[in-house]
Amino acid sequence: MSGKSVGVIGSGLGGLAAACVLAARGHRVTAFDKNGWLGGKAAVLEADGFRFDMGPTILTVPRVLERIFAEAGRDMADYLDLRRLDPQWRCFFDGGESIDLLADVDAMAGAMDRFAPGTGAGEGYRRFQKVAAGLHGVSERFFFWKPVEDLFDTIDLRANFSPATMRDVLSLRMGSSVAGTIRRHVREDRLAQMLDHFTQYVGSSPYGSPAVLCAIAHMQAADGVWYPMGGTRAVVEALVRLGRELGVTFRPGTDVAGVELRDGAVVGVRTASGDILAFDAVVSNMDAIRTYRELVGGPAARAYESKGFEPACSGVVLYLGLKQRYEHLAHHCFVFSRDPEEEFDAIYKHGRPAPDPTCYLAAPSFTEPGVAPEGGEALYVLVHAPYLRPGQDWSRMLPGYRQVILDKLKRSAGLHDIEERITFERALTPQDIHDRYKVLDGAIYGLASHGKFMGAFKPGNRSRKVPGLYLAGGAAHPGPGMPMVMMSGWIAADVLDRDASAAAGAA
Ligand SMILES: Cc1cc2nc3c(=O)[nH]c(=O)nc-3n(C[C@H](O)[C@H](O)[C@H](O)COP(=O)(O)OP(=O)(O)OC[C@H]3O[C@@H](n4cnc5c(N)ncnc54)[C@H](O)[C@@H]3O)c2cc1C
Repeated sequence: MSGKSVGVIGSGLGGLAAACVLAARGHRVTAFDKNGWLGGKAAVLEADGFRFDMGPTILTVPRVLERIFAEAGRDMADYLDLRRLDPQWRCFFDGGESIDLLADVDAMAGAMDRFAPGTGAGEGYRRFQKVAAGLHGVSERFFFWKPVEDLFDTIDLRANFSPATMRDVLSLRMGSSVAGTIRRHVREDRLAQMLDHFTQYVGSSPYGSPAVLCAIAHMQAADGVWYPMGGTRAVVEALVRLGRELGVTFRPGTDVAGVELRDGAVVGVRTASGDILAFDAVVSNMDAIRTYRELVGGPAARAYESKGFEPACSGVVLYLGLKQRYEHLAHHCFVFSRDPEEEFDAIYKHGRPAPDPTCYLAAPSFTEPGVAPEGGEALYVLVHAPYLRPGQDWSRMLPGYRQVILDKLKRSAGLHDIEERITFERALTPQDIHDRYKVLDGAIYGLASHGKFMGAFKPGNRSRKVPGLYLAGGAAHPGPGMPMVMMSGWIAADVLDRDASAAAGAA
């Protein structure tokens, strides 16, 4: 029998995915979370007849989720009702123009030509999508569905040296940034700014991120944007249900204070209340750097501190219950900043909130009217902000920045009377994100993907330093965002399971 007892630290989407896959493969799983709810950042806020997803709202690449259900021989459709959204985003620019991002590449190219006649934007977009499709293909072959820490894990040049491999390595366009790649094909400023925003899914600057991240544009065009009825919270509920059916024990309200080691290998966990629980292996869904720093310590922690990983961006979210919805919005909208360089430099270089930020809006009542009292809207407004810097006190900064955000929505998205429509309001600041989810300096999306050569690499899913420790979540390979963290959970579970089978075979 290779069935192991496994502790999962953290029940974010990555932790839940790992727990379900491990249980489906016959392991005995206990999943802990310090919070009283399961699902981590995919939390829900319900008040005064409004329901808000508190964290993620845009679901892409649902086949990752499908694969987790398939592990247990289940059909995802029995657990989740997913609706495809097209237009995917409605985009508002500073000058008052707007365009819808459409899934179909030819239809989008046509819309771009009408939006910016004579600029060649449509043909450029077709070329850009071809490049993105190539990068997506390389990502599927070398990055996805396997534990990766660095280039040597992806491409074994000695074993694999072939013209096809070399073509793949070259096509990664190492040394080029996302912003540079976009502008080689789509030069029109506003449309390039729209395409830049795919890297906001990983909380990184398009000017500093490697070109391979352009793959996200193809994943979204090909696989679509989806809304789970019930909100993204429904994804958490579906995974928790699956986990329970497979025998996972969930322990919300249990903070894990340490990973217990014997001769350098994992033998269990220690909770904050001092209980020591024995496990054969542990999957940590806590931030990877903080896992090594706070739960493991010693040389492993020092090794990861010295690698110079940087947190991804943080964010400010306003949850606005409106008595009357805005009919000119779509389910997902972006209200772009006046100047992307000014915005990204402020957030990523200078560590300051952008003076004129891009606002992302979710107006889910267009798909699910029950999120608000009749005719109203549960409007979610997310603005990316720098990860927490010393001296930044968001309890003092929030009131002023809230006004900057509302003024931007009035000016650029036509929400002129938004203040009169608000009947309920809550906010989430970088400090709240830091405290609620035990992340690195308030980061929403784990570690930044900055570095035109190695920016896509994150701490690997099988610890090279600590036998028996596996990592899943936004700060581990392959990175943040709902589909990637769930893939991260699948990979951590798969490699743990393969290690267990190999050990059983050797015994
Ligand atoms: C405001 C916001 C908007 C976002 N929008 C999108 C979006 O539209 N689309 C998208 O795909 N992604 C989005 N994301 C990102 C996405 O939510 C995350 O990448 C993903 O949910 C993170 O999952 P995770 O597995 O890394 O775990 P997390 O959600 O970070 O959860 C980790 C859990 O571990 C717990 N934990 C940590 N340490 C311990 C410990 N020592 N003991 C016990 N428990 C512990 C924490 O309490 C937490 O519950 C957004 C995130 C935020 C915050």
